[in-house]
Amino acid sequence: MTTETQPQIKEFQAETKQVLRLVIHSMYSHKEIFLRELISNASDACEKLRFEALAKPDLLGADTLSVRLVPDAAAGTLSIKDNGVGMSEAEVIDNLGTIARSGTKRFLETLSGDSAKDAQLIGQFGVGFYSAFIVADKVTVLTKRTDTPAVLWDSDGEGQYQIQADDKPDRGTEVILHLRDEDKEFLEPARLRQLVRKYSDHLSIPIILKSGETEETVNQAKAFWTRPKSELNDEDYQAFYKHITHDSEGARVWAHNKVEGNIEYTSLLYLPKRAPFDLFEREQKGGIQLYVKRVFIMDKAAELLPPWLRFMRGLVDTADLPLNVSRELLQNNRTVEKIKSALVKRSLDLLEDLAANKPEEYAEFWKTFGVVLKEGIIEDLGQKERIAKLLRFHSTAAAGDAPEATLEQYVSRMKTDQKAIYYLTADTLAAARNSPHLEGFRASGLEVLLLIDRIDEWVAGHLHEFEGKTLANVASSAADVASAIETPEKAAAESAFKDTTERLGKILLGKIASAQVSARLTDSPAVLVAGEFGVSLRMGRILKQAGQNNPFATLPILELNPKHPLVLRLRDTKDEATFADLAHVLYDQAMLAEGGELDDPAIFVRRVNRLIVEGFAAQPKIILS
Ligand code: ADP
Ligand code: MG
Repeated sequence: MTTETQPQIKEFQAETKQVLRLVIHSMYSHKEIFLRELISNASDACEKLRFEALAKPDLLGADTLSVRLVPDAAAGTLSIKDNGVGMSEAEVIDNLGTIARSGTKRFLETLSGDSAKDAQLIGQFGVGFYSAFIVADKVTVLTKRTDTPAVLWDSDGEGQYQIQADDKPDRGTEVILHLRDEDKEFLEPARLRQLVRKYSDHLSIPIILKSGETEETVNQAKAFWTRPKSELNDEDYQAFYKHITHDSEGARVWAHNKVEGNIEYTSLLYLPKRAPFDLFEREQKGGIQLYVKRVFIMDKAAELLPPWLRFMRGLVDTADLPLNVSRELLQNNRTVEKIKSALVKRSLDLLEDLAANKPEEYAEFWKTFGVVLKEGIIEDLGQKERIAKLLRFHSTAAAGDAPEATLEQYVSRMKTDQKAIYYLTADTLAAARNSPHLEGFRASGLEVLLLIDRIDEWVAGHLHEFEGKTLANVASSAADVASAIETPEKAAAESAFKDTTERLGKILLGKIASAQVSARLTDSPAVLVAGEFGVSLRMGRILKQAGQNNPFATLPILELNPKHPLVLRLRDTKDEATFADLAHVLYDQAMLAEGGELDDPAIFVRRVNRLIVEGFAAQPKIILS
């Protein structure tokens, strides 16, 4: 029974209009992608039905799920027909009339104006249906769910659409494209066949092309990952990667494994070349697709990979989970745990292999995803050693801009009596390379790793040691740091500066724990070091910025270079006011060199100016010559 109703005319939601316009205009040189998008929707609808039929087998009955392409040269139309779930009237309005996704705004922001780049964004943000208007000046959608009456939707893509009841009897959706004159090539069977092979070969639903009276299945119609490796080449793997990720860059490497034994599953893991836009978003869920016995169960099954591998893409298909598995069930499930730990190993295998055999590509990977991989040092004790070998660092032993040093290389370069792996943390590479903390190490010929990501403070702390060598922050007063750069002159200088360091301690009370003669410095007058058990100054700063308590806050130690003229002048200054000026300036300078902030910058400026003017007055000839 059908209800005759007048067609209702509706407006597209404002954002939808904007997307529509952009899609039509920016994709002009990539028209063919419309077919990929519409076939992918039809195939999704079939997969959804197959999934619903798990609970209600009657839904599927004896039907074979398929997607049919029907070109009609006389009418100038191309139909994409499926017998999937179909849509109710409300769903049609929701899905085709509005863009209710949060990704849409971002899609609009991300458009670059470069149509090649924008073309692949379409799928990524789920605005695929509108690509129909690239080649059609009118689109008609006929659709029916099993349990609701059929609906007819049509639009010319100019801002309005019409919706009315229809008497289509069978379940599914038909999208009819009234092709523009210049796009009639998409009526040619040869062209359609070529496009299906290019974009949709790996879909497990058969795609049937009707030409005249003949019908032929044009894709492989077999779940891609079930095909033997020997049958698949790099292009096949890349095409499937692009299909599941909508990432047109392609994958860097992949691993395809069939595991038979205690647990049976097939995994296909890809390492992407570029990062998704939301890699660092807190709610971002990484993870891969989960299939149970070829049936798609869910996207982004975060339980299958730890967060520090959230850049991996791909899927797992297993026979050892129930088809009605829910996200709740995935948590604390022993089968899932076992698959997960195998996937972690495989991912690390992939990365190790890349690092060993394609170091330039590994460097690219590191630039894109290194910060995420580092999280594994903090989160996954069991994999710490393997991850540690994959870390890459800037180092005083390499001048380049790219982090290249490995811990293994560092250890092999260590001096015979060197006790620790030395590192320095700073906000930028330039700040690290120019840090006063490096002076003594440079003079002693000791290599120092330069860590400039915020997370590095935690990474270094959790890593703690590598191959039995402790990691030591050069900006700390810990014994194995101080002893590395000990010089005989230092001991002699200590008594000569005893009076000065004591006076400093009093003047800078509340700012420093104490003042000491240093062996760390060759060029700078002073430096601040963290107490042996205190956290580093930079860590303290990061915690403060994050509004967190720092229970380990301790005052730093001010260390002096006994050979520096400014320090000698300080020692010889009897006048208390001048001594205080110099003392504060030394402290403030050291704080600035740490990347820290001054409590009162204006006073610092005034003191520096006062000292400069005094200097002019005292030594006019030197200054003027
Ligand atoms: P996406 O596929 O990323 O969700 P689309 O713009 O391609 O975005 O499709 C929007 C929505 O319209 C789909 O999510 C789906 O709910 C619905 N849809 C599109 N085509 C079909 C179809 N052939 N059968 C059933 N529903 C469909
Ligand atoms: Mg789609």
